[in-house]
This record gives sequence, structure tokens and C-alpha cells, in this order.
Amino acid sequence: MSSITIPSHLDAAHPADIARWAAEQFGVDQLVVTASFEDAVLVHVAATAVPGIEIVLLDTQYLFAETQWFAQQLRQRLDLNLRVEHPAAHVVPDNLWQTDTNACCDVRKVQPLARAIAGKGAWITGVRRVDGPTRANTPIAAYDVGRGLVKVNPLAAFTDDDMALYESLYELPKNPLSERGYPSIGCWPCTRPVAPGEDKRAGRWSGSDKTECGLHV
Ligand code: SF4
Repeated sequence: MSSITIPSHLDAAHPADIARWAAEQFGVDQLVVTASFEDAVLVHVAATAVPGIEIVLLDTQYLFAETQWFAQQLRQRLDLNLRVEHPAAHVVPDNLWQTDTNACCDVRKVQPLARAIAGKGAWITGVRRVDGPTRANTPIAAYDVGRGLVKVNPLAAFTDDDMALYESLYELPKNPLSERGYPSIGCWPCTRPVAPGEDKRAGRWSGSDKTECGLHV
């Protein structure tokens, strides 16, 4: 499929309806969700709207222990069909994150993502427009030419208030780090807490020009 027609009503649809639309369009077996487990919203939306949908956590070898714990908590609570995708066997913990973050993200995020989405018709992400300038124009769904499948972003229009309301409505737990100054959570070597008033992604690759790991470019 090289093009896709997105029904106009999806622009204002609830994220669960967007996930259901993707399941109707492609079939559950052709969908994969990638989740960072920074929060519980995306996996709750996906797993309740499309029971049994595959959810992938990219284990970079450098995830915070809190994130690993949170993923397992949600797996049990929401009965997630969770798959953990690891780097290739020859990739072992090293000092690449200190010397070449792009190469480190490539072997620990970009290449494992390629394996996770191989053969799938659509990839569902938690990207939101308010994440930052590079994501401000994120569509609800669009064909990802580089990867050869449709990328669906059910939370694209969700604001931070929408996220908080959703978490409250469904009484979802939080990643413990989010209450300790980490509004954006990646790998521990490349994530620091942010100060009040700072951009919420200011703690990612702090001190460098890097703003994206390569998954959403
Ligand atoms: S975020 Fe940092 S530690 Fe994680 S894969 Fe990228 S460079 Fe490596």
C-alpha cells in the first residue's frame, strides 16, 4: 500500500477510535504498537480498543529500571500482548552513548524498530504534536515512505492536559520517574530531569544538538 486515504473525521476522533480504525483497515495481526512506557496512555488506548494488539518495547540495554518495572506492571494490569525487542546479538553494552549517540541509537533503537515492524501494515506510535517543534505537524496517520508502511499516531492531537485527564479518568498508574522531574523518559545515560519551566524534552541528550533518536524522523 503506497497511499492511504484518511477519513476526515479521524482528525477530531478519540484515540481509541483511531486505533479501532487502524484495526479495521489493516487487521489486528498487521498492527504493531511501539511504546516507550513513559506513561500508560498509549498502551491503554491500544489494548482496550484493540484487544490482543502487539505492543513492542525497544529494550536498548540502557532503559531505566523504573521503566522496565512499569512496563511489567502494565503488562499484568492491562493484559498486554507485550514483546520486548532487543538489539542484535553482537551489540553489547559499550561506551557508544558517550562517543557517538547517533550510532548508539541506530543499533539500539532504529535497527530493532525495523525488525519489530517488518512485514506489518501499520505502526502505531505515541508521538504528539506538543512534544516539540519537530513533531508539531504530526498527522493522525500517513504513509511512511522510508519504512514502507502506514504510521498511525492516535495521540497526535492530545495535549498534556488531555493526557492527565485520560490518566485520571482511567486511574492509570504513572512511571515513577515522571513524578521525579522526568516529563520525557528515554535511556538513562541520555536523560536528565528538567527544572520547572524548562522544555519537557530539554532533558533528552542535554548539552547536544540531538533532539530525536531516529525513530520518528
Ligand atoms: S538514547 Fe542514548 S543510550 Fe539510548 S540508544 Fe540513544 S544514544 Fe544510546
